[in-house]
Amino acid sequence: PTASLSSLLKKAFKERPTNTAVIDGPVRWSYQKLYEKVLSFSHSLSVKGFKPGDRALIKLFNSKEYIVAYFAVIRLGGTVVQANPLYTSEELRELINDSKASWAISHAEHADKIQRADRRNRLGVVLVSAAQSSGDTESFEAMIKNGNPALAPEHDINPYENVAVLQYTGGTTGKSKGVMLTHQNIFSNVYQNYHFTVKDISEEGEKLLGVSPFYHVYGMSAVMLLAVFRGSTIICISRFDPKKFLEIIRKERPTLFSGVPTVYGALLKQPEATEETMKSLKLCMAGSAPLPLEVIRAFEEKTGAVILEGYGLSETSPTTHRNPAQGVRKAGSIGIPVPNTDCKIVDQFTGEKEMPVGEVGELVIKGPQVMKGYWQREEDTKRTLVDGWLYTGDLARMDQDGYFYIVGRKKELIIASGYNVYPREIENVLYEHPSIQEAAVYGIPDEYRGETVQAAVVLKDQGFIDKEELRMWLKERLAVYKVPTKIDILPSLPKTSVGKILKRTLQNQAKENQL
Ligand code: ATP
Repeated sequence: PTASLSSLLKKAFKERPTNTAVIDGPVRWSYQKLYEKVLSFSHSLSVKGFKPGDRALIKLFNSKEYIVAYFAVIRLGGTVVQANPLYTSEELRELINDSKASWAISHAEHADKIQRADRRNRLGVVLVSAAQSSGDTESFEAMIKNGNPALAPEHDINPYENVAVLQYTGGTTGKSKGVMLTHQNIFSNVYQNYHFTVKDISEEGEKLLGVSPFYHVYGMSAVMLLAVFRGSTIICISRFDPKKFLEIIRKERPTLFSGVPTVYGALLKQPEATEETMKSLKLCMAGSAPLPLEVIRAFEEKTGAVILEGYGLSETSPTTHRNPAQGVRKAGSIGIPVPNTDCKIVDQFTGEKEMPVGEVGELVIKGPQVMKGYWQREEDTKRTLVDGWLYTGDLARMDQDGYFYIVGRKKELIIASGYNVYPREIENVLYEHPSIQEAAVYGIPDEYRGETVQAAVVLKDQGFIDKEELRMWLKERLAVYKVPTKIDILPSLPKTSVGKILKRTLQNQAKENQL
């Protein structure tokens, strides 16, 4: 099926007007109310000069305002440029220059940052919680109040051509790139996710916990849009705080939860995350980064909730694989491809020959959720998208039953004394150690071996480790060339805003220490 993203909201409004659409703190809006706000805001935006094709940067935490801004921009035929609310003015300037956005919708607290980033004053700026409109900026609330829902224009779009979202990649391995996702890309993925994972277990009145950031592709598509597609409730959580999070679960009794691995790790540390607290959750989904086996086991044991690990990337809107909700779930696997998605494992050096079952190679993917291309980066697009196949840059293998396993990123493969070393395998072993909370393994250039394996670990609250004992412990479990030559114990690991460990930073620090 084909659809524009704004038709998802219209459908939810028509079919379930009285269902609660959004819970944001004490505020609850039905689909009727949400739709009216979107129409009012669209009308005001168009009066202020918003044209189809305009790019609007949205820099807001998960909130009812984010949802209104998102759907208004989409309805007017614009493109949402996703921006991390924590960006500094320098990062914002880069984003504005790269995306060539002409609008920014943000919070009044960020007015200064936007002003500094937009030195030439090119942006139309709309601010949430601004007392009133001023010469240069518009108040979000005033625009909603003054807009007329009956006059809200709706632009005709071509779902296959029009870019709904410019999604910047996480920047985990290098410079963040703008991924062009069309309406059809995103809609297809919402549809795939719904039919593959949620349909059989979901009911009327479903509540989803919106804790994954909407500015990231996972929260936007697999949480916010999935809820709207189903006419379900989105509980907006602006920042993850484990204690508050558990309070919300106890109060609202949500049924579905999608989170990044670090959220599961943080919840495990909370004594209040008991089976009793978590019992309303029918399904937990995880993705975005590797979920250590030990975390899955401990979380399921402690809470009784089931976690379905999946996989995806910004370039695929994002989901391509998931463990089935009904059927065989394999721990440590990202599951099987979602419907209508073709996958191959190809030789990681040539990108051509398909690898036999069980052997590691680069994962390549074809499907309706695969991006149109990178924004204004033709060379990158040509390298990544070949004959409709997306080269993910991730190394994986497939087992006899068609289940896939990510073994690491191509860029993170360590070649030590001629052996291929996959950091994930060593990290999984480190996570099994009773004193280790978090672990990262990476390669460091080495004169003799080409590269050597190093690790950084964070200890559990009461944990203690003797490094020599730890090395012996690892030697019992891993071939000797895989055992890190150096293990740093750190108070915390550097992470991206969605909680992915920044190995680049650790590697750079280790290289500096070598000099
Ligand atoms: P950049 O591309 O800018 O370096 P990024 O790769 O973090 O940043 P995203 O699109 O947010 O950008 O993340 C996609 C990547 O996340 C995948 O390519 C993969 O490496 C990783 N990933 C996602 N899900 C999983 C998973 N279940 N297990 C292991 N890795 C995963």
